[in-house]
Amino acid sequence: MGRLTIIKHVRIFDGGSIHGPRTAVIEGSHIGDDALADDPDPSTVEVVDGTGCTLLPGLIDCHVHILDEAQLAACASYGVTTVCDMACVPLEKYVRLRAAKGPTTWLSSSLPAYEENSRHGKLFKLARVTPDHAVHNTEEAANFVQDRVDEKVDYVKIIADFPGHEQAVLDMIQVEAKKHGKMTVAHTAQFHSFERGVQADFDILTHVPSDKTLDNNIVDKMVSQRTVAVPTLTMMQKMADSWVLWIASWIFPSLGRRNFQVSLDSVTVMHNAGVPIVAGTDANNSGIFSIVPGVSLHHELELLVRAGLTPIEALRAATSLAAQHFNLTDRGRISPGLRADLVLVEGNPDEDITATARISKVWSNGEEATIPAQHRRAGLGSCAVM
Ligand SMILES: [Zn+2]
Repeated sequence: MGRLTIIKHVRIFDGGSIHGPRTAVIEGSHIGDDALADDPDPSTVEVVDGTGCTLLPGLIDCHVHILDEAQLAACASYGVTTVCDMACVPLEKYVRLRAAKGPTTWLSSSLPAYEENSRHGKLFKLARVTPDHAVHNTEEAANFVQDRVDEKVDYVKIIADFPGHEQAVLDMIQVEAKKHGKMTVAHTAQFHSFERGVQADFDILTHVPSDKTLDNNIVDKMVSQRTVAVPTLTMMQKMADSWVLWIASWIFPSLGRRNFQVSLDSVTVMHNAGVPIVAGTDANNSGIFSIVPGVSLHHELELLVRAGLTPIEALRAATSLAAQHFNLTDRGRISPGLRADLVLVEGNPDEDITATARISKVWSNGEEATIPAQHRRAGLGSCAVM
């Protein structure tokens, strides 16, 4: 039998609903059966009093850009034990982070497909991602997918930007990725690009329009295709609030205006229609649009509730639903045999979503993660080791 941690008198959100107060057990690196708590050997057991606390599956942020190994490790101290990177360049960094051993699991698309003259193409030029990597036509799209498959990416991503690729290029990425059994993700931050992402039947659309609210035509198609949305409301809010972008949009009208309420309304429309909404922040270190990974996911959950999800639905968006739609069968729920990625928070996040940030303890793969005091938003948690 592995080392045991027994968490007593704790409310449990198991990825679906709330149970307890009752006992939860960590056995080595996995979630153990409750029966193990009945007659444990005191010398190999740690007991935690979970009175007044709720145990959650480790949180999953489905849209980040991680800078380095230290930042990746820091995510776990905010309760974020899995992150999905949505563009990682250069290749050396991808290889390094892929090999990183730490408390946070990292998934990645490596380089996304982009159009050389699009906004992202220009940004990538500035960031010295050479134009050789841009995808110009369907033949290059097929080669792009093969290159990413060779890099063993977790999913293939395209930036459906404006002005962007012809629809045929998006379609080719989707078809080729499916041939290789890869999930597909499209960056869709404007109404126009969102439409094209749906048209190409990408599995996951990330970002949500801030220029025009999604309509029933698009959303009904998403439901019938089982498209999943990762809205990144944290980033949409940051961009809509940016005075730099606001001034730039007056000078260059083609940049368009951004309205955060439009993004919120688009999430509401999708959610009401039954489109799965999954949590992601777009955490990054770009400078004016920087978002700190880890802590930002708690803000995203608040914004999802503002868009109309119940707190329980927001919790599912960052746990069980995220795991399900990113094919992570070993996590996202609290059930015996699953990986012991767990977060103990003070209070009832199923009633008040801000409670997710009142973190008391985090376990990753059964190991307790260190939580620096500055990572706690609302003071130290009271759930104590007995
Ligand atoms: Zn991003």
